Amino acid sequence: MNTIPHWIDGARTTGVSTRTSDVFNPATGAVASQVTLAEEADVNLAVASAVKAAEAWGESSLSTRSRVLFKFRELVDRHKDELAAIITSEHGKVLSDAAGEVQRGLEVVEFACGIPHLLKGEHSEQVSRGVDAYSVRQPLGVVAGITPFNFPVMVPMWMFPVAIAAGNAFVLKPSERDPSAAVRLAELFQEAGLPDGVLNVLHGDAVAVNALLDHQDVAAVSFVGSTPIARHVYARGTAAGKRVQALGGAKNHMVVLPDADLDVAADAAVSAGYGSAGERCMAISVVVAVGDAGDELVEKIADRTRRLVTLPGTDPEAQMGPLVTGVHRDRVKSYVDAGVGEGAVLVVDGRGHAPRGFEDGFWLAPTLFDHVTPEMSIYRDEIFGPVLGVVRVPTFDDAVALVNANQYGNGTAVYTGDGLAAREYQRRVRVGMVGINVPIPVPMAYYSFGGWKDSLFGDTHVHGAEGVRFYTRAKAITARWPRQHGIDLGFPTHG
Ligand code: NAD
Repeated sequence: MNTIPHWIDGARTTGVSTRTSDVFNPATGAVASQVTLAEEADVNLAVASAVKAAEAWGESSLSTRSRVLFKFRELVDRHKDELAAIITSEHGKVLSDAAGEVQRGLEVVEFACGIPHLLKGEHSEQVSRGVDAYSVRQPLGVVAGITPFNFPVMVPMWMFPVAIAAGNAFVLKPSERDPSAAVRLAELFQEAGLPDGVLNVLHGDAVAVNALLDHQDVAAVSFVGSTPIARHVYARGTAAGKRVQALGGAKNHMVVLPDADLDVAADAAVSAGYGSAGERCMAISVVVAVGDAGDELVEKIADRTRRLVTLPGTDPEAQMGPLVTGVHRDRVKSYVDAGVGEGAVLVVDGRGHAPRGFEDGFWLAPTLFDHVTPEMSIYRDEIFGPVLGVVRVPTFDDAVALVNANQYGNGTAVYTGDGLAAREYQRRVRVGMVGINVPIPVPMAYYSFGGWKDSLFGDTHVHGAEGVRFYTRAKAITARWPRQHGIDLGFPTHG
């Protein structure tokens, strides 16, 4: 059976690890390959390679770095279909969705190509007589990224292109559930001219993550994953003196006001609720129907949900694919059972679905609940599957209060034809990313991505200007070229 290796110092290697984990084809349910799980010794090898590489890479000119990034951009673009196929084979999402993920990752590379502009500092002439002050931003050295299964290309690319463009070396620990795409990206970056060791890919589980969090040569950690692990990574990484940004889980609400075009809103709820089988951190999982919007809206969503086509991601007819693993599918299904037990109204039941010839795949078809209440587990918990719940509230203020009381604050959307109501929502809602008649408001690469509350631990969001700041540290310089002598023990003031 094929074993997926690490990528350390510019080469595929199994390192010293003996432990492995199964990687599945989610459409068939079969074990497709095994992935090596790193031990602490492997982490030490990857970090040592990065430490060595960071020195020379940090000294390379901005033009050199920018040129390598442009070349990498061309190679990723050329290999877009291949990367999408790798994603679908291990994650299960449909090919067009996988290609969209590659595209959004590519946009971060395009942003990072402008690194000479992004790293420009500030300069103030004559802050005192004959004195100038200026600031520069310098790389941190070795930084690590730990990423989730749901975007095996895009989420790593939120991180490493920016970190590397800024002059750091990077150790990526992708999800062990769909690890192949990360190795292919590292190969393409090498082909683009990236020196060995500047990007290392280390597969593993908690052993690798904790070793990276404790390693004294790792200066900063970017994490994206579930909230309990994000909290752990933030606590352990900062306790070890590192800069940490840890993005967590989500429960994204789409508020539909009674004046909204309900066909547009229903299209959006279905697209954002079931796209990628709901395995997106920006998926809509709760629709909040305000006032008398509920009955008609639920009918429209249900009608569309029943017509969705759930098939293997490689099938051109497929709108939704399987879930990532059998364990995850069973967990999501257990929430459907719980919702029924808790008294929510099951409008569309996706349990029991399996396309012919793929009976052992990890299937759960789109599922819709109505009359969900905030006490129910299907409302409280992040399900991370194709399960959409409708909560009904009487007024706009009730909708805002509901969203603001939720533990998560990643994304939200409001559907309305009333600009003033939309503006009010945008101002009052305590969520990091807001869509106005846009169901999945993922910011463009030149803005930053991140949530509030339990959806992010740390101060900075990823990519955009905040990403550049996270991967660099400021140095402020005050300079004088004196001609006159003289001792002055007073505290410097400006005159
Ligand atoms: P996860 O938390 O299980 O895993 C994320 C990473 O942490 C993986 O690399 C995994 O190997 C590692 N990990 C797992 N258990 C660990 C442990 N005990 N100690 C240390 N490391 C551990 O998340 P997942 O299931 O891969 O991804 C889905 C989750 O990610 C969802 O909660 C989703 O909302 C979230 N997510 C958030 C964003 C965001 O931007 N906020 C984006 C994508 C995904």
